[in-house]
Amino acid sequence: EEVNPDDTVKVRLLGHGSSGKVYKVQHKRTNRLYALKIIQDKHEAAVCKQILTEMDILRRAQNPYVVQCFGASEKGGEISFVLEYMDGGSLADVIEAKKTLSERYLAEVAKKALKGLDYLHRNRIVHRDIKPSNILLGRNQEVKIADFGVSTILASTLAPCNTFVGTCAYMSPERFDPDSHGGNYNGYTADIWSLGLSLLECAIGRFPFLLPGEKADWPTLMFAICYNPPPSPPENASPEFKDFVQQCLQKDPSQRPRASTLLTHPFITKFEAPPSGVKAQTHSQLQSGGRFWGNFTKAFNAMFS
Ligand code: ATP
Ligand code: MG
Repeated sequence: EEVNPDDTVKVRLLGHGSSGKVYKVQHKRTNRLYALKIIQDKHEAAVCKQILTEMDILRRAQNPYVVQCFGASEKGGEISFVLEYMDGGSLADVIEAKKTLSERYLAEVAKKALKGLDYLHRNRIVHRDIKPSNILLGRNQEVKIADFGVSTILASTLAPCNTFVGTCAYMSPERFDPDSHGGNYNGYTADIWSLGLSLLECAIGRFPFLLPGEKADWPTLMFAICYNPPPSPPENASPEFKDFVQQCLQKDPSQRPRASTLLTHPFITKFEAPPSGVKAQTHSQLQSGGRFWGNFTKAFNAMFS
């Protein structure tokens, strides 16, 4: 279905990013809830037209692991998108509330995010802006990738420094220097780097390229990403998680696995429900507030209270 931004009313502000604000909104006719993203910088008419045309293409992307776009409009150079509303906020909010996440939870997030990435990559879409604030959560353990394409469209239409600041922290080394590694990369595995870095951040509770409390401007960050060795997973992490992160954070983009390959990685498969017999027990453990969903619910409640 199509939803016009003008047919919605604002409920409350959900958050803001480098390009604008996101509101929780309600559709006047159906009462359904959506998220309305407003890109606040004023754009020239030609740029707006280009953005809306490209959004039209992106609207066709439909997958359970990708946040859907229902409509877009432009008024006086300001562009609005109606998006699927995710009531659990982003992974960035969870990190903030809970500091670090368990491997079991991370494996669940990783699996769903990889399914979303696999879908996009199969459709020849490179996300380019995978980071904790663009991995959104729902009340029923949904995990969906947000903002795909938006960043690419904005990057090609806005002043470069404007978008660069918001996105460079999770960018892979080859994106700063496309000639490195003989220009031998197709772009898809740049998303794998960003996902690996985001998951590592969730595991250690801080941005991996910086020391605790350290602040850095983007040239410093860029230097670290390009010239330092990739950040390592914590000593006490499981061998599966260490290997998963190390595979994602290889500097040579051609060495990084595809999303579909990573879906079969032991880190993802080891937490999957065991076949028959044991299953019932596991399920009841989960229902009686097993640690995994217990923690999930706690993090969740922390965000809604
Ligand atoms: P940047 O602008 O640097 O990319 P960002 O991703 O945090 O950063 P936005 O995409 O504008 O910026 O999102 C701002 C916040 O709004 C997010 O952190 C998230 O909490 C919330 N948000 C965004 N999209 C949705 C959505 N579809 N449903 C619910 N909340 C959302
Ligand atoms: Mg975002």
